[in-house]
Amino acid sequence: MRNPCLIPSHFTVFLIIISYSTCIVAKPRPWTNSLIPNHILSTEFASNLRDDPDAITKASNDYGNLIQDTPSAVLYPSSVHDIINLIKFSNNCSTPFSVSARGRGHSIRGQATARDGVVVEMSGLSKNGIGIRVSWSPSLGYYADVGGEQLWIDVLRATMEHDLAPVSWTDYLYLSVGGTLSNGGISGQSFLHGPQISNVLELDVITGKGEFMTCSKHMNSELFFGVLGGLGQFGVITRARIILHKAPTKEIELLMKDLEFIPGFIFKKDVPIIDFLSRVKTGDNQKEAHPWLNLFVPKSRINDFNAGVFVDIIGNHNQTKGPILFYPFNRKKWDDRMSAVTPDEDIFYTLGLLHSSGPDESEDFDKLNNKITEFCEKAGIEIKQYLPYYKSKEDWMKHFGSKWNIFEERKMKFDPRMILSPGQRIFTSDLQSDI
Ligand SMILES: Cc1cc2nc3c(=O)[nH]c(=O)nc-3n(C[C@H](O)[C@H](O)[C@H](O)COP(=O)(O)OP(=O)(O)OC[C@H]3O[C@@H](n4cnc5c(N)ncnc54)[C@H](O)[C@@H]3O)c2cc1C
Repeated sequence: MRNPCLIPSHFTVFLIIISYSTCIVAKPRPWTNSLIPNHILSTEFASNLRDDPDAITKASNDYGNLIQDTPSAVLYPSSVHDIINLIKFSNNCSTPFSVSARGRGHSIRGQATARDGVVVEMSGLSKNGIGIRVSWSPSLGYYADVGGEQLWIDVLRATMEHDLAPVSWTDYLYLSVGGTLSNGGISGQSFLHGPQISNVLELDVITGKGEFMTCSKHMNSELFFGVLGGLGQFGVITRARIILHKAPTKEIELLMKDLEFIPGFIFKKDVPIIDFLSRVKTGDNQKEAHPWLNLFVPKSRINDFNAGVFVDIIGNHNQTKGPILFYPFNRKKWDDRMSAVTPDEDIFYTLGLLHSSGPDESEDFDKLNNKITEFCEKAGIEIKQYLPYYKSKEDWMKHFGSKWNIFEERKMKFDPRMILSPGQRIFTSDLQSDI
């Protein structure tokens, strides 16, 4: 009899073999050398756990390419409940394992890793999460409810369909909403509108105890302010309500109105706002390391900083490679109740040294970075690191300054078993090591 199927029978056999072997790779195996008890395999979310080399390798590394910390498994959550259940499961273990949300893995020094624990690949929520929903209310105006896993580029595209846009951005838009809100989210617009964390109305957060909480300035405010700039220490952001304004169509005449200039010297090019905001692209060269340094510098010491850092240290370093960013902020646009820290002055500047290097050169750039921070220390210039990286608790206490006590109290309140985001090395330095 003729085969009714158009696919030859030997090809059918081939397809079955391929799909069977894929299942074997994807099914989690018992973790013999892991803190995680094997009965995790009988939980509802077990089918969304992966420990195959692809998943583990990706979750062990990040954009910086400087530090590797290997998790035991990676959760690709199919819903917020998977994350709640995972965190509760860890809390119920006699020795809890760490859990780290991973937005886009665009950290520089392993901040989204979870050695021997579980990395939550937030992109898993993009299929069944809340997505991006634009709304309006008489009291709030226009806003968007956005999944914590969403990328800012997608937020821009979705809101522009309504001729609306968030007011505060990052220079590069392929970053996750949860990831930038855990740091600050800064760019040229921050001087006028504040950082992204100043433009959030409400959050849904799963705390380190596995509780799902909605929070805002007026509801569960301790959690709300803790999470904004909180380096992933208090909870996993699963939804953010973000302020929207009418998207500007032409920025330039208004800006130039008060400036004096020689007319022949002006060069202007009109581009749609979507092209302007997504102007920064980056290569994905996985062999390059990115030993970046981002600092906030108080205005009162900017001349000393210029002489010591720009002229002397950077000027005499013969192999600076990568963009250098420098722009001002207005501290009034930052809310001091948030976890994010800034210099204690109304105006401060950010310096971003976005070095790229070969894997063997990164130490040279680290030496350069150390020279800069040591110079500031000696000269008494009270800089703060943005996207901070420290190895000792003492350095973290110094970084947070007067906010340290409240930061520690919030940790005890929302993540008392120190489960979340151990890659930041704030409370769990014993779990980490540099490579
Ligand atoms: C090319 C490039 C350009 C950049 N440009 C800018 C810029 O213009 N402005 C700026 O402010 N920053 C910028 N950054 C830095 C960026 O904000 C941080 O890297 C930030 O971590 C966002 O990256 P991510 O979404 O990949 O988060 P990840 O690196 O995945 O995570 C960062 C931290 O947040 C935690 N986290 C992630 N998701 C969540 C969540 N949903 N809830 C709670 N915690 C979470 C992680 O556990 C980790 O501790 C840039 C980075 C790169 C690589």
